[in-house]
Amino acid sequence: MSLDDRVAGVSCREVLAQLGDYQDGALAADARATLEAHVGACANCAAFGGAYGGLVARLRERLAPRPLDADRAARLAARLAKGD
Ligand SMILES: [Zn+2]
Repeated sequence: MSLDDRVAGVSCREVLAQLGDYQDGALAADARATLEAHVGACANCAAFGGAYGGLVARLRERLAPRPLDADRAARLAARLAKGD
């Protein structure tokens, strides 16, 4: 099997390219259903997509900028200005 095999009308490559949007809930309902049908029936994605999906989720959690409240931002700016 290769990433270009088509299962449920889409290739693994296309599915993997959409995983990020899928996890963000950014895919349209029909695209989501197609992706889920593919992953459910595809031996490649059952293994690779599953691990990749978890990886993407953890990465995004780690990389997401944490909102800085005004108080912390002011203290940080003061420390930076002092240079310590
Ligand atoms: Zn697949």
